[in-house]
Amino acid sequence: MKRLVVLGGGESGVGTAILGKKKGYQVFVSDKGKIKEKYKQVLEHFGIDWEDEKHTEAMIMNADVVMKSPGIPDKAPLVQALKEKGVAVISEIEFASQYTDAKIIGITGSNGKTTTTMLTNHILKTAGLKVGMAGNIGDSYAKMVAETDLDYYVLEISSFQLDGIVAFTPHIAVLTNITPDHLDRYDYKFENYIASKFLIAKNQTSDDYLIYDADDEVLVQWLNDHPVQSKLIPFSISKDLEEGAYIKNNNIEIKTQNETIQMTTDALALEGKHNLKNTMAASMAAKLIGIRKQTIRESIENFQGAEHRLEKVLKIGHVQYVNDSKATNVNATYFALDSMSAPTVWIVGGVDKGNDYKQLMPLVREKVKAVICLGVDNSKIKDAFGNVVDLIVETCAMDEAVKIAYKIAERGDNVLLSPACASFDLFENYEDRGNQFKKAIKSL
Ligand code: ADP
Repeated sequence: MKRLVVLGGGESGVGTAILGKKKGYQVFVSDKGKIKEKYKQVLEHFGIDWEDEKHTEAMIMNADVVMKSPGIPDKAPLVQALKEKGVAVISEIEFASQYTDAKIIGITGSNGKTTTTMLTNHILKTAGLKVGMAGNIGDSYAKMVAETDLDYYVLEISSFQLDGIVAFTPHIAVLTNITPDHLDRYDYKFENYIASKFLIAKNQTSDDYLIYDADDEVLVQWLNDHPVQSKLIPFSISKDLEEGAYIKNNNIEIKTQNETIQMTTDALALEGKHNLKNTMAASMAAKLIGIRKQTIRESIENFQGAEHRLEKVLKIGHVQYVNDSKATNVNATYFALDSMSAPTVWIVGGVDKGNDYKQLMPLVREKVKAVICLGVDNSKIKDAFGNVVDLIVETCAMDEAVKIAYKIAERGDNVLLSPACASFDLFENYEDRGNQFKKAIKSL
């Protein structure tokens, strides 16, 4: 019997353990932290051995294959030791994909993964296909493979998941964009991070597709220098394309070899240029698997966006409050500010991941009437924008930030939470930050 060791007892780890057990492995789950009670119960239910708050090497080094959760860095001594011994250390998507014949749409990129994944799933569901959505989102992919029989998977895939692939091949890959992020895990080398994102196309052949943002110079340059086998399908909001998705006269044009479909941009559910891109990527993926125009159009018009991503919360006194708590880097905030069509009171700050605020300057000059810094250390933000906006205020509490915004904002303005930073100084995570924002607004 082959031995599968799962490092990390979270959603992907427990899902992998369930699938491994079903496929006849002797399974052992080991987590250096505490495993949540609900996951312990699942492991007990399936009769899977586990340990937490430690890694017992003797129980781990004898593995035939190891599934490592994406949160554990490659540099962890245990992972290094396993690799030196020649044990395959893979990710959940690699392990689970061996056990399904479903067609996979794999979505990666620095920003827009969740939105594009949810929208693609929504279109496929509306078309009546048997589809599962997984990866970095919702339930574990491996668990779905173990328990259901589906024809399509739409997977949101992080670079950490891609680092652990060997044979994983999405039939359709989407690369939304690449901007510097998570560089701490990539030796602070941007090229390492880019290479990791492009692993999504590593095993693709000329029968598979790579949908990518042709306006993203980093992406285009990398593709020039490192050709892939996949059929390339670009999308763009700035130029017409021979084949791909682009904007013409207020229409999204989806142009494949044998057909062009047009859909108006007027009725789109999601706002902002970045969402136009996400919509084009998702629509193209749907088109490539043969979904009808009418279905795609309906779906992109009635899609309910993802929580905490440019989410309209409430209008109070003709002031629109917008929750973009998921914007944890400068690029995401760029698109949020870009999509503001009224003077904006901007709540920003948190844990800085090496931000360079320069690219935001023109937008801030044009649209931001006041900056509310919400973080423990706001010095970089104050330095960057002190001379650019008339009013800059600091606070360490969400309810206070919202009250200040309420005082400053006038009829017709927006109040935007788009932090450009991680949330861990004051909040549990970005969801907590967004929820506190919404709660504070509702109790105004
Ligand atoms: P991810 O899953 O990659 O983090 P999300 O869909 O959750 O992406 O969006 C994260 C943040 O990035 C949100 O603030 C959102 O408004 C912004 N965003 C979404 N799509 C894009 C895009 N294509 N380019 C830049 N920013 C985007």
